[in-house]
Amino acid sequence: SAFGKLGLDPEIVKALGFMGYSDPTPIQQQAIPHVLNGKDLVGLAQTGTGKTAAFTLPLIQQLLLKPEALKKRSARALILSPTRELAMQIHDALRDYGKRLPLNFTHAIGGAPIRRQMRDLEKGVDILVATPGRLEDLVAQKGLRLDETKFLVLDEADQMLDIGFLPAVKRIITQISKERQTLLFSATMSKEIHKLTEQYLTDPAQVSV
Ligand code: AMP
Repeated sequence: SAFGKLGLDPEIVKALGFMGYSDPTPIQQQAIPHVLNGKDLVGLAQTGTGKTAAFTLPLIQQLLLKPEALKKRSARALILSPTRELAMQIHDALRDYGKRLPLNFTHAIGGAPIRRQMRDLEKGVDILVATPGRLEDLVAQKGLRLDETKFLVLDEADQMLDIGFLPAVKRIITQISKERQTLLFSATMSKEIHKLTEQYLTDPAQVSV
């Protein structure tokens, strides 16, 4: 299939078939091979372009290809979202794509009980989707540490900056190992976004639709 040609595993391609996805969207075509190659990536794409699958599918595959025991109160991959709604949408997408795969996902957002989130993180997770404020609360309360995280996605980075999350995002990134793969998605490339990519991404590929 067209998804298989991008390098995605047959199990993932099968899950996409069940969901009625037959062809990758342009952002998926451009982004997926870079992510599978381990490159840092800047993706310029709006909501509705299929950007969520453009980073979640290759991220899932990277995690499957490098199996690693979960570490307590750690996430192998962290996806940061500016809003609770977007975080839940990303989590739902992960559940759909990863239904038959040996990976676990959770989300941690403001406005929901933190105790339950701490319990969900206790044994460690493969992918955590979180909003910056709640993520920092979890770290402060020792419910989560970030030094074992190897993959970081900043989704809707422009929104994140507009909401005023830049200081939080910077504090979070500096707790994550430099030996990580970082993906940044944004609808626009502003001066601030450019600065962020210069500071925290390593020789990123850039794709846009
Ligand atoms: P997004 O831009 O990530 O919010 O995705 C927009 C919508 O397109 C979501 O409802 C996805 O489930 C759907 N979608 C993403 N990729 C594909 C694809 N390759 N084929 C069909 N639908 C897709």
